[in-house]
Formats: sequence, structure tokens, C-alpha cells
Amino acid sequence: MEARGVDVVHLEIGEPHFDSPRQVVDAAVSALRAGATHYGPPAGLEALRDAIAADVSRELDVPVSREHIAVLPGSKMILAAIVLAYTEPGDEILCFEPGFPPYAAIARVLGRVPKAIRLNAGDGFRPTADELKRSAGSRSRVIIANWPSNPLGTVLRREDADTIARFARERELLVVSDELYRGLEFTDGRSLFAAMHDPSRCVLMDGFSKRWAMTGWRLAYAVASADIARAIAAVAANTVTCATTFAQLGALAVYEGLEEWRATMRGELRRLRDTALSLLPPSFDAQSPEAGLYLFARSAERDSRALASRLVAAGVSTMPGAAFGETGEGHLRITFSVNEERLREGMRRLGVAALTPGLSSST
Ligand code: PMP
Repeated sequence: MEARGVDVVHLEIGEPHFDSPRQVVDAAVSALRAGATHYGPPAGLEALRDAIAADVSRELDVPVSREHIAVLPGSKMILAAIVLAYTEPGDEILCFEPGFPPYAAIARVLGRVPKAIRLNAGDGFRPTADELKRSAGSRSRVIIANWPSNPLGTVLRREDADTIARFARERELLVVSDELYRGLEFTDGRSLFAAMHDPSRCVLMDGFSKRWAMTGWRLAYAVASADIARAIAAVAANTVTCATTFAQLGALAVYEGLEEWRATMRGELRRLRDTALSLLPPSFDAQSPEAGLYLFARSAERDSRALASRLVAAGVSTMPGAAFGETGEGHLRITFSVNEERLREGMRRLGVAALTPGLSSST
């Protein structure tokens, strides 16, 4: 459509619209000019691993050091490495639904079996012991949790962390806690990694993409027991080799006094969230997101893929809730991390198109 000159407002995008901090860009450029163009260690540069370990120890109060950290080009690669190193073909990987689609895709493509743990709208999309029990089988090995949640915009409560931790302990599951959106909370939330406080049973999957608006840098890290971190690095050594050296040297700069940058970004996101909520058309209904970049809005219309197609034909692109699993049907994920003027225009188009069910994608 855009190639034909049609204007489309992108409210489907899964990243902050901010540019990476200037200080980080400058550090990477200086590193490049200084010749940081060579391979690095598979687990990541020692200086960066030390900085991550210090940051995690301070923020999450879990004492870790360099040997617990593996830096890879992207968090999905971390998950793939854990699945390869810790499970066998045919083993089950449990993932919450609605949830980030690559979890199940990674499990499937590696010959493992993804099993959905339903988060139901009726329970406010909170995890329940019953649904956890229902999802697990004798071959369940790994459970992936993601709070703050994409697409739900919820944070983890203390009782949710207890429910998941208890279940994982009973079933002897390795927990992978994807906390990519931590630091973008508007409400207090729990870190599952911090709550479990045992990197040999709960691996933190985190990175620079969302919190520091660095999606294109491809930098993520695992915080795990030294054994697991070594296994992840071994997979890296034989696949991607290492994360980009000058990108890592740029990332080091986030630990040097960027608190104000972070607070400004969070404040701006909160303002955009409130704007999006206030402009949500009456045929939609959404809880105020507690964190992150997305509204997960229930629509009067059940078929989210049909609705999203109709909306895109009307010039506003969103993610159909069904893309995040069966329990996401009847919803749309709407990104509010966009330029404010475009957000307002997108919400206007959403309101017009939602009122025009006859408009099909061929019109
Ligand atoms: N986890 C979640 C929940 C995400 O939303 C995303 C990005 N959309 C990722 C992981 C992937 O992040 P990256 O590959 O940039 O590390």
C-alpha cells in the first residue's frame, strides 16, 4: 500500500519510537574508529558482562558476577540456546498465551513441543494454578514467563510470582523469565527472576532493545547459573560466534549516568499511553497498561484478523490479538510508542473504520 503511495499509520510496531541515547551512539562510533572491528569472546566482552552483573545485582538484588552473564545478538537466540542445551526433541516448552509468538515458534522449529498456558480475560489475564496444572505434561522441561507482558501490558504481582515459582519447583521446570520490558513500568511490578532468586532455576532473559531503545543493535543477555551461561555461550560460539563488538562497547555507555534519559522516556510513554486510552473508540475497551508500549484492547468484533485487515485498508495497522494465541482473539494490540500526531491520526482512523463493517480490504 505504501509503495502505491497510500498513507498508513503504524500502530503494529513492536519497538520504542525513540532514538538510542546519543551517548551510546557516540561510544559505539568511537569504538569503531578505535578499531573494535574484530571477534570478541562468545559470552560477550568482559567489561560489558561486569557492568550487566553489577546492574542486575543492584536493581534486582540477586548477587551475580561475570560468569553468570552471556551476551548474545538478540534474546530469541538466548531462548534458542537454552532450548537446545537443556531439552531433547519431543520435550515440552510451556508458554503463556496470549504471549510473544516466537516462543512457540522456536520450540516447534527445534522439534520441541510448545504447550500453551492460557491466560484468560475472565481472570484479568493473570496466571492461575489451575491453568498451569492443565498445561503441564510428563515431558515439560521449560516454562517461559514474560512480565511486563507483550502484548498484555500487565506487570507481575507478588502472588503471580509465587504461583509460577511454586509450580516450577513442583514440576522441576527451568524458568526463563523474559523481562525485556522491565524498566518501562508505570506501576510497581515484580521481577520473577528476583522473586525466584536462584539463577540455576530461573534464567533472566533481558537486553537493551526496549529499555534503551536499541532494537537495531541486536544485543541481549542471559543471567543464569555459571553452567547455563557457559552452555548458552557454547551455542553462540558455534552459531553466531559473538555479539557485535562495537555494539557492545556502545552499550557499556548505558551504565554511565543515563537515569535521566530513562525517566524522560518513561514519562513520555506514560503520556502517550494516556493519550491512546483517551482516544480509544467506544467499540473498544482496554485496561490501562501497567508497563511497556502496547494497549491490548478488546473489540466489539470477535474476529481480530478480519478487523485488523479492515483497519489496514482504512490506513491504520495494528496487530490482531489472535496472533498472540487463541485467548487473544477478540483483541487488538495497539502500539502507543509513536509520534503523538501519528498516534492521534491512527486512533481517528481506528474509530472511523471500526464503525464501517462493510469496508473490506479490497475497497
Ligand atoms: N521478548 C519480548 C516479549 C519482545 O516483545 C521482544 C521484541 N519484540 C523480544 C523478546 C525480542 O527482543 P530482542 O530480539 O530485540 O532481544
